[in-house]
Amino acid sequence: MTLPEKRILISDLCKVLNTYMSKDQIKGVYQAYILAATSHDGQYRKSGEAYVFHPINVAMILAELKLDYHCIVAALLHDCIEDTTLTREDIIRDFDEEVAHIVDGVSKLTGLEFRSNIEQQAQNFRKLFLAMSTDMRVMMIKLADRLHNMRTLQSIKHEKQQRIAKETIEIHAPIARRLGLNNINKELEELCFKYIYPYRYQVLKHKINKRYGNLKEIIEKIQDEIRSRLEQEGLSDIKTSGRRKTTSSIYKKMKNNHLKFSEILDVYAFRVIVDNMPQCYQTLGIVHNLYKPVPGKFKDYIALPKINGYQSLHTVLFGPNKVYIEVQIRTKEMHFISEYGIAAHWHYKSKNVNTSKLAGNWIASLLDIQQNSDTSIEFLEGTKDDLSSSEVFVFTPEGEIIQLPYKSTVLDFAYAIHTNVGNRALAAKVNQVNIKFNTELKSGQTIEIITNKNARPLPSWLKIVTTTKAKTSIKNSLQEESASKLIRLGEYLLTNALDYQGYVEPISEKNGKLACKI
Ligand code: MN
Repeated sequence: MTLPEKRILISDLCKVLNTYMSKDQIKGVYQAYILAATSHDGQYRKSGEAYVFHPINVAMILAELKLDYHCIVAALLHDCIEDTTLTREDIIRDFDEEVAHIVDGVSKLTGLEFRSNIEQQAQNFRKLFLAMSTDMRVMMIKLADRLHNMRTLQSIKHEKQQRIAKETIEIHAPIARRLGLNNINKELEELCFKYIYPYRYQVLKHKINKRYGNLKEIIEKIQDEIRSRLEQEGLSDIKTSGRRKTTSSIYKKMKNNHLKFSEILDVYAFRVIVDNMPQCYQTLGIVHNLYKPVPGKFKDYIALPKINGYQSLHTVLFGPNKVYIEVQIRTKEMHFISEYGIAAHWHYKSKNVNTSKLAGNWIASLLDIQQNSDTSIEFLEGTKDDLSSSEVFVFTPEGEIIQLPYKSTVLDFAYAIHTNVGNRALAAKVNQVNIKFNTELKSGQTIEIITNKNARPLPSWLKIVTTTKAKTSIKNSLQEESASKLIRLGEYLLTNALDYQGYVEPISEKNGKLACKI
């Protein structure tokens, strides 16, 4: 993870693409490479190497996630519109509209970055949301772009390093996590930690290496024991693998739970991948029987998946020699989702994994970041107010995104859809649960408005709406309503008053207006 960068060549990229793309598509990718190399000719990165190595690396990160042809071509050309003479039309001519659309989306996001002002960052964040809602691949390229820039951060000035790393931990890493792109998220967090807290990083890394060194034999023994016990119980062909926890994840744990390094239980983790869900629970029983579980550490993310769709069983065991081990148990399908996240969406078909619902969850939960103050995205503590004072993003039951100002209520939403929906609103549901009209909206919610043709706006509604559109519509409707009522009331009062005077004939109505003969 922190190894010096190995130069990745177009041939390496093609090798990876060969595992999932057709020959013709790879030819197209190669043409994109030629175009990128020619367009960036004479441009160099701060590290001194030819610029084109950057887009190749970005494309490689995405190829490892098996992203589609259009996305890889767009990745190779992602800096061309911004930094070279190449135009959107050139890309349409040489490739197609789809590639041009993605590259254009990425270009619109470039130049927004590296601004320290919180308000501007908040704006960047919103721009990212919107980019994402038009084509998720724009966001994927942006994340891969940032990952490669973080990998090569050593060649730029210290002050700029800090700025980029902070922005990344505040914006890109949480987005990657919410999209289920676990590997990208982990690597970004690790690199950010290294640049933001270089000293803490070095100390902790040293401690972890030492601890692993001491534990090496015992870890191998535990792994063997787990494997042979699973085989005894008839679970052969099971994949078990050990994995080290990252420096940043251990640091986060120490900081959030106020623990010393020696108090961190699960520095080492095993993963067991089985065929089906019942085997997950069977494996859990087996490992709990083999080593004693640490009370209170078991988590069932299969029954209760994480918000980004992640599923697994987690438990911590008392291993031999006072070693604590974390075990993650999941099926191949769950593993696939946990490795690829939203990228699974582009190549799930053959794997028979239903990700369309997950993709919806991913997007919704990403939008929910705005309101989220969970410790791993502390950044929002600072920017939350700015973000919140601007807008919320909610969904119609059909999945359409509606953008409204912060503090908008359910009624604002109804009027945003259509004046008639607002005027005929009878009840509302958020995520299937009935709620009052004055409920403030939170990003990521799905809102349903139940209408009835006899429903009418009430004067009290004016107090619970924020948007001008809703206010105006309610006022208009109330005026229409009250005009006819007032006419009737006026008629009654006037008739009575004149009648009392005893010298009038009854009033009559002409063309909707009152007239009386005296
Ligand atoms: Mn770039």
